Amino acid sequence: MATIYYDSDADFDLLKERTVAVIGYGSQGRAQALNLKDSGANVVLGLRPGSRSQPAAESEGLTVKSIDEAAAEADIVQILIPDEQHGAVYRNQIEPNLQAGNMVMVSHGFSIHFGQIVPADGIDVAMIAPKGPGLLVREIFEEGGGVPCLIAIQQDVTGHARDLALAYARGIGGTRAGVIETTFREETETDLFGEQAVLCGGTTALIKAAFDTLVEAGYQPEMAFFECLHELKLIVDLIYTGGLSKMRNDVSNTAEFGDLTRGPRVIDEGVRERMRTILKEVQNGEFAREWVLENQANQPVLQALRRRESELQIEKVGADLRSMMSWLEE
Ligand code: NDP
Ligand code: MG
Repeated sequence: MATIYYDSDADFDLLKERTVAVIGYGSQGRAQALNLKDSGANVVLGLRPGSRSQPAAESEGLTVKSIDEAAAEADIVQILIPDEQHGAVYRNQIEPNLQAGNMVMVSHGFSIHFGQIVPADGIDVAMIAPKGPGLLVREIFEEGGGVPCLIAIQQDVTGHARDLALAYARGIGGTRAGVIETTFREETETDLFGEQAVLCGGTTALIKAAFDTLVEAGYQPEMAFFECLHELKLIVDLIYTGGLSKMRNDVSNTAEFGDLTRGPRVIDEGVRERMRTILKEVQNGEFAREWVLENQANQPVLQALRRRESELQIEKVGADLRSMMSWLEE
């Protein structure tokens, strides 16, 4: 079983003696910087020149500096910009401003695990990764709670890396809920596999395949949209709050029988075999190399696939049907 840390395992005073630079003010950057500030940490926000986030950050009470200045001032630098930007920003603006004994932090292990950031020997390296989007990290903290986090220590030169990372987790509210010990490798590989096989890749492919099956068989696209995409939310909400069994309790016996007898025929051994192949490509770095090279080439594949997907019939039908639902906002 996993090791889990709570408030009583974290000494927040360790952070008060130090300065934390949060780099980036997007989903996680805003949430983590504001939570740390409200907890009483010395936070400085590092943003790129002309950042569109600067006015909002300043109006929310944060001190904004350049990334170089923030990194130079800080003892702990938490990098919260898109993963594919970590390498260049770290090399050019963060690393030259670090001192031995400083700590570099991330909220996802991709850039460290796959060698896009190569921290010097004298630097501590840790991850605190909230298991929820930034909006939730902020909202639950303001309500007095916290979103569970993961902790991983990659390099502990000072001997304080875990204690400091836990103090950080306490500052953003994570130890109120629980902070689970993992490794950079485990977090990175499971995160990539999960989003490819299920959360993003598997789910969208399943929806499209089922929609196409109905439309090809002559059914109206509107019907196919409701049955294969729209109602997924109801099912996921039930699974989210009570697991597979709660969902199966709440749907009809007919739906449950169809689920149990037909689901395994859709997701059969062939799918499982291809999932193992996808996992191997994550583990051996093939996926990471493809994504890093894709970014060096200015994302041609991503742009082409995005355009193609936006033109799918399911997206057009969906936009029309959602406009009939007054309670939905884009
Ligand atoms: P966002 O895409 O929301 O980050 C946007 C911020 O990054 C903006 O402030 C933007 O600057 C800045 N930025 C983008 N490119 C650059 C650049 N080249 N140089 C300097 N600043 C740049 O990121 P997320 O919050 O989604 O993700 C941050 C990290 O957190 C990632 O490692 C991610 O994997 C991890 N994570 C994210 C989660 C989430 O909920 N989204 C959940 C858990 C982990 P500007 O304001 O100027 O536009
Ligand atoms: Mg993820």
